[in-house]
Amino acid sequence: MQACEIVKMENCDDGLWSKILSQLEVRLGGGVFAAYIKPLKMGQHDFNSSSPFFELSCPSRLVRNYVESNFTEDIHLLTSELTGIKKIEIRFTVEASQELKKERYVVVKKQASVAYKGLRAEKGNLAGKLTKADAAKIAQESKINAKYTFDNFVVGNNNQFCHAAAMRVADKPGESYNPLFIYGGVGLGKTHLLHAIGNAVLRDNPFARVLYMSSETFTNELISGLRFGKMDEFKKRLRDVQVLLIDDIQFMCGKERTQEEFFHTFNALYSLKHQIVITSDKMPQDIKGLEERLRTRFSWGLAADLQAPDFETRAAILNRKAQLENFSLPRDVSAFIAKNITSNVRELEGALTRLHAMSSLQQRQISLGLAETALAPLFQSRSVKLSIEEVKEVVANHFGIKVSEMISKRRTKNLSFPRHVAMYLCRKHTTASYPEIGSKFGGRDHSSVIHAANVVSTKLGTDEHLRFVIGRIEREFSGIG
Ligand code: ADP
Ligand code: MG
Repeated sequence: MQACEIVKMENCDDGLWSKILSQLEVRLGGGVFAAYIKPLKMGQHDFNSSSPFFELSCPSRLVRNYVESNFTEDIHLLTSELTGIKKIEIRFTVEASQELKKERYVVVKKQASVAYKGLRAEKGNLAGKLTKADAAKIAQESKINAKYTFDNFVVGNNNQFCHAAAMRVADKPGESYNPLFIYGGVGLGKTHLLHAIGNAVLRDNPFARVLYMSSETFTNELISGLRFGKMDEFKKRLRDVQVLLIDDIQFMCGKERTQEEFFHTFNALYSLKHQIVITSDKMPQDIKGLEERLRTRFSWGLAADLQAPDFETRAAILNRKAQLENFSLPRDVSAFIAKNITSNVRELEGALTRLHAMSSLQQRQISLGLAETALAPLFQSRSVKLSIEEVKEVVANHFGIKVSEMISKRRTKNLSFPRHVAMYLCRKHTTASYPEIGSKFGGRDHSSVIHAANVVSTKLGTDEHLRFVIGRIEREFSGIG
């Protein structure tokens, strides 16, 4: 592009930015665009000097971090195309009012957190920097996994709404959607988003009191609190948090005491305007065995769902994982995996781990050929159609136990392992749904079947012995099917 055009652009910066905007809208899709790009404003700029730059002002730090790590390349490319300048520096800033507000927020919270016993932070510390020991202690107490962040969560049409809602909540805990209720199928990123919220809040304010807890842990801690007379401690710990992240609420079904305690926790936090985020495998109205008063509360805020990723998003997730793990993944290989694994991100990861392991063990480069061999055992379709009874029988036989033992309530390992394997195989080789399988395994809830099938399919990615066992059993099936 010629200099005169650049000047023209410069005289009409809004014009440049709005051109970039309209192209980004096409490139990124309406939802992503509206959530992250549209709120940006063009700030200071200079296209004529020897080091041309322009500023983009973002409504919050979280949005800035996100846009910077995900969209810089797109914005850069478009700007270069439109201005003809190859090297333009893009400076992402945060709106001044937000920056001030945030600082005030941190100071106030820091003062408040002096009183926070669990942290045992000293005043001197608060004034200065957070020590490594403090940070480690906070991370440990919050149970937040540093691995799951917004930055390494790939956004597609399937999860964009949820992701944007989670970012908003992390940005302004307790102020936007309370509670935020995230629901969706297995392995679609619910737990990832919960930790991402926790990590983002802690990054903004290292002294924030954040707590991640699965609902099973909630129940277990409640039981031991009751047993050892430590209920006060349990209650205090939960009701003192500013951001409570509860995972897999569906496991509270039918547990009255747990639900009652959670109800009081919810009320206490809610009345203080502290943030609550909940995940579940289904929407509140579809969770059976959940008390009405909880169901009602869950719908006070925002419910956002995660769908299965489309092909492009699956491929993007694979590419991002490979990039994070520092190995190169040819496009045809990511396309091959994305085509064969369609409904579960965890399985995508399992396949990638397996492929990577095989490539380094055999010292072979990752290629389509290697992927086909390495992943064949994972891609066998649900082709052999059997009945649940047949599967149960073959599996019980294989492990030398009785079918009645296998479907009993006992949880010893020699029974629960075959049970998990059998549930997984029922899902794979019969046409039965999760609830149907559950009912034929001693009246179990379908979430237990999903859990079992999930445990097995995840392990299959890395556990050679398990693959061998499943392979053997499946060969026995072929005698029947
Ligand atoms: P869920 O809790 O819904 O069963 P998880 O949050 O445990 O699922 O996700 C399963 C795995 O898939 C995790 O390792 C997570 O990091 C990964 N994952 C899920 N969705 C995405 C995504 N959109 N981008 C990157 N990784 C993802
Ligand atoms: Mg989860």
